[in-house]
Amino acid sequence: MAFLPVYNCYHPVLKKKTEKIKEINGEIDKLVRDMFETMYNAEGIGLAANQVGISKSLIIIDTSAGNIDEQKKHPPPMAMINPVIESFSDEEIEFNEGCLSIPKFYEKVWRPSQIQVKYWDLDMKEHVLEVDNLLARVIQHEIDHLNGILFFEKLTPIRRTLARNKLKNIKNGKVKPDYKMILSDGSLLK
Ligand code: ZN
Repeated sequence: MAFLPVYNCYHPVLKKKTEKIKEINGEIDKLVRDMFETMYNAEGIGLAANQVGISKSLIIIDTSAGNIDEQKKHPPPMAMINPVIESFSDEEIEFNEGCLSIPKFYEKVWRPSQIQVKYWDLDMKEHVLEVDNLLARVIQHEIDHLNGILFFEKLTPIRRTLARNKLKNIKNGKVKPDYKMILSDGSLLK
């Protein structure tokens, strides 16, 4: 297993729509294991494959890895292949989000509170899940990554304006996370 470097949100791989996975092979299995190692090491609760530079439709989630919602029972760690959101609730809730590709940046974002998501597991078995709360939030955030969307693009205009300088520092590599990061030009942040 290995810790993979996380790509900064301004790297072009994070703006590109990812490709669907057609078969699960040893390479995908290894990628999933490495992504879990990387996510736990970085204290994240979700990670998309393109955040480690692999432009494929794959996300992993473990809501118990963060310190959010400690009292609640968490679902087991999940890997979702080719996930698609099939429906969203009308009700939206606001929640403070962060992202391993946007180090040390946290802002409140509105999103639907419930979703229905379809995906394959690592045995290529199809699942359809209805989820809410934190899990629905993380799945939406990660599937946005697969479609080249970053969470700061969903901020209200005023919050986005206020965040401009912080984001500029992140772009320029002035914000150093506690894990390895690849900057927008492909260099490793030192
Ligand atoms: Zn993210």
